[in-house]
Amino acid sequence: MIVILKPNTPKSEIDALIDKITGFGVQVSPVIGTELSILGLVGDTSKIDPTQIEANRNVDKVLHVAEPFKKANKMFHPMPTVVDVNGVKVGGKQLAVIAGPCSVETEAQIVGVAKDVKAAGANMLRGGAFKPRTSPYAFQGLKYEGLELLKEAREATGLPIVTEIMSPYDIDRFVADVDVIQVGARNMQNFDLLRLLGQTRKPILLKRGLSATIEEWLMAAEYIMAGGNGQIILCERGIRTFETYTRNTLDLSAIVAVKNLSHLPIIVDPSHATGKWWMVEPLARAAVAVGADGLIIEVHNDPAHALCDGNQSIKPAVFADVMKQIKGIADVVGREVR
Ligand code: PEP
Ligand code: MN
Repeated sequence: MIVILKPNTPKSEIDALIDKITGFGVQVSPVIGTELSILGLVGDTSKIDPTQIEANRNVDKVLHVAEPFKKANKMFHPMPTVVDVNGVKVGGKQLAVIAGPCSVETEAQIVGVAKDVKAAGANMLRGGAFKPRTSPYAFQGLKYEGLELLKEAREATGLPIVTEIMSPYDIDRFVADVDVIQVGARNMQNFDLLRLLGQTRKPILLKRGLSATIEEWLMAAEYIMAGGNGQIILCERGIRTFETYTRNTLDLSAIVAVKNLSHLPIIVDPSHATGKWWMVEPLARAAVAVGADGLIIEVHNDPAHALCDGNQSIKPAVFADVMKQIKGIADVVGREVR
């Protein structure tokens, strides 16, 4: 962090500001000019509120040289984090492929889809039990019954289960029942939820918020990591742009950017990114090509009758084809598919 002082700030006031900043435990290197003076701050500046410094009447502006996320930052943790979900690794050489319906609907549906995606090569099962729907009149999920059905599907296939949490009240239940707790796009900045998930040691799938910048998203990861839980898988699921042809705009550059900024693994959700089932396969290929550590894909046995997101869900046979296609790309980029 660099603090630029207003011209002709008296020495006594510069010294007072240096004392204040040193109190935060960082080192201050002043460069005092005849008119302009600057203070270079080195060390852990995460405890300093830059707006408070900027509020000082002698300060002209504060410039940031390091990212505000520290624990999620590759600079302080150069080795990639590999999240281990009951033996399924996310962030290693093997791609992690999570597949399953948007929502858990019936026992036959979730167990049937789980068996189909497993046969095609998926290594985790997804399925929403608590659904964050735009309309309060739309299907809200089977809730706790949905969690029970997911457990049955895990029992039948051995696939770890990934499902979305909506309320901090359900954390204990999720910790006991599921293998990866998903934080949906709409809750990416639910800071109370993030903080409490930081107290657990469960792998967290952190989806990018609808309009979140990469920095805001990594700061959300930082909330979880600040509590001591470093088991985070980031998920790019498309962002809001002016384009309405697709449900969202898949930001493929975010994968490359995150790989440059953070050690956390990142996967891509081409289903929510596009909202169109026939776009899932080409974008799954693109995601693997740019270096994603895996995919999360909506698969439904009967998309035309799905209770949620049927239009973006692919059938098991199409999913099997996606697995073949991404294997070809994985070979080229030095990754593996189960
Ligand atoms: C989902 O995965 O079903 C979901 C609701 O995703 P998102 O939070 O990305 O919209
Ligand atoms: Mn969905």
